[in-house]
Amino acid sequence: MSPTLTIRPFRTPARGVAQVPGSKSITNRALLLAALADGETVLTGALFSRDTRILITALLALGFEVAADEDAQTIRIVGQGGRIPQTHAKLHIGNAGTAARFLTAFLALAPQGVYELDGDEAMRARPMAGLLEALTGAGCRALRADGQPATHFPFTLHPSGRLGELVVDASASSQLLSALLMVLPLSPGASVRMKGTTVSEPFVVMTEKMCTQFGRPLNREANGSWRCPQPGAYQALGTYAIEPDATAASYFIALPAVTGAGAGVRLQGYVKNGLQGDTAFAEVAGHCGATLTPQGSSLVVQSWPDLRGGNFDFNDFSDTFLTLAALAPLASSPTTIRNIGHTRKQETDRVLAMATELERLGVKVVPTAEELRADDKLSALTIHPAREALRAAAVKGPVEIHTYEDHRMAMSFGILGSYDLWGDGRPWIAIQDPACTSKTFPKFFQALEALRTQFVAVAVDGGAASGKSSTAKVVAHELGLLHVDTGAHYRAVTRALLDAGARAEDVTSVLPALAHLRLGSEISGISSVVTLDGHRPVDASLRSEDVNAAVSKFAALPAVRNFLLAYQRSQVALGQAAGFAGVIMEGRDIGSVVLPQAEVRVFLQADPVARAQRRAAEGQTDAVAQRDLLDSTRATAPLVCPEGATRIDNTHLPLVAVVAQVKALVQSVARPA
Ligand code: C5P
Repeated sequence: MSPTLTIRPFRTPARGVAQVPGSKSITNRALLLAALADGETVLTGALFSRDTRILITALLALGFEVAADEDAQTIRIVGQGGRIPQTHAKLHIGNAGTAARFLTAFLALAPQGVYELDGDEAMRARPMAGLLEALTGAGCRALRADGQPATHFPFTLHPSGRLGELVVDASASSQLLSALLMVLPLSPGASVRMKGTTVSEPFVVMTEKMCTQFGRPLNREANGSWRCPQPGAYQALGTYAIEPDATAASYFIALPAVTGAGAGVRLQGYVKNGLQGDTAFAEVAGHCGATLTPQGSSLVVQSWPDLRGGNFDFNDFSDTFLTLAALAPLASSPTTIRNIGHTRKQETDRVLAMATELERLGVKVVPTAEELRADDKLSALTIHPAREALRAAAVKGPVEIHTYEDHRMAMSFGILGSYDLWGDGRPWIAIQDPACTSKTFPKFFQALEALRTQFVAVAVDGGAASGKSSTAKVVAHELGLLHVDTGAHYRAVTRALLDAGARAEDVTSVLPALAHLRLGSEISGISSVVTLDGHRPVDASLRSEDVNAAVSKFAALPAVRNFLLAYQRSQVALGQAAGFAGVIMEGRDIGSVVLPQAEVRVFLQADPVARAQRRAAEGQTDAVAQRDLLDSTRATAPLVCPEGATRIDNTHLPLVAVVAQVKALVQSVARPA
């Protein structure tokens, strides 16, 4: 067990881009589908956690070529078109439910195979019978050490190699069904029929959608059975992008509920119409008072003005029930979570574990932990508001929460512990064995810490082609900052002024044209992009020869600079509201005029020859030296190295080195709040 972690409450609102890893469910499905495909697939944005490593290790042991690059978050896998290279293997799958079920069905495809499968203690108790019975019906044998048919781990699988008409009881776990659906196309004529119903229907839909993505759509027939109309190996996809994990995202949707007014957490790539049913958690959060704003392919979560309870059916997205349950004691009314009986046979008995730990914090739950222990059919939990009770329970110091080797227990209580119960930052919750989050989210507590930083403003100034944009973009990406290119503002205004027939030499032609200009902003990825009258100007139109020649002349006019100043300063508020951890703004007068209070100010410079070469390499006709001369000699806001700014000459420095210097400066000021 890893050492207990005391959670430090947030004393300032959570802010920044939540570093959510790739989806476990999608990564593990994609690994199997890619292994059953007819060539190479590279998974991008993949999850690297205990559960996915278990599956990767198993595929390697089965003779597949798998190359995982954790830094790049990619996994390259060469599929064998439905063939499993090794006919004999011994596989240990720990407590990884998906790996256990998916691999068992996968191995059933190997006609000559003999496979010994085992898991740890918890896995040995988890449901497998529905799947093993279905495979036995198709001629496979799954035998215990004493030669009797197995209903649980461990067992030795002697596959028949052909699946035929499978009948599965997936009432205990939808994974039992998903496992069979994924191998269906590899066995011509096979079908899967479900006995009764299953839980977590969205996971079945995820499986269906992914089979289609890998080129083998399944037909779900009216009688509740599935067939593959065009059986065969899956198609290798070249690359396949894994969505960020929607279950993991639920903790960051919850966090702004406990960290006070002014929070802004950004979830990149949180798509409602994607593959994951757990995005339904956002709707429940909305009912409980969350302020959620979709922004392109991201979701921004602001502080919840009023955290309230409600009555919710969590059957379809039960992995997220613990997130809400852990918030519930802080709500203004009771919270009832229904239809979660199947979670009593997951990593641990989750309903009982949650009730036990809430009671440890003095919270009233119905049924009580004792009642749950006496009746394993109970499948709902009501949690009562309990702020006072929490204080009473924590009066002698942090209460130690038991996590039962369940990553979701650790993460949920990590969010509750972020609440400033005493109003003075004193910790009141400690999490036992925090490293258990490594099952799906190894860096959860670091990701939580990253949202504690205060909003930081970074000013990057320098001459033309001094590397401002390249540096600022990478730093923005790596630190979750909003990138603002003010050169683009001057270029956009120049474009509009030229189009309106204005001339820099004649201010009287500029003023009326400026009066008609409506500037706006659109967030695109990590950058704020200027809009003119609601439209984004085409990039090439801002880098054309006429703009290159005129921009510095217009930029020298006080009227133009004043016009842009308020707009540029407003970008800070934009970044805050959109959940960025800060703003990095680049230009000529950012550290001196636009954001003189910026916590970090950097001045980039490079030898003029090197700069001219950079522009030429970009294929641009741009008189860099001429623009610099105009920019640094104008009367209003000339290009200067702001007082106290850090000067970096990058003539001979690679981009990574400059980025590292700027990041270090940001990290030195962005101390935990
Ligand atoms: O950075 P970029 O080369 O796109 O900037 C174009 C021009 O806009 C600069 O040469 C300068 O004249 C003007 N500018 C400015 N102040 C800023 C940013 C750009 O005067 N903060």
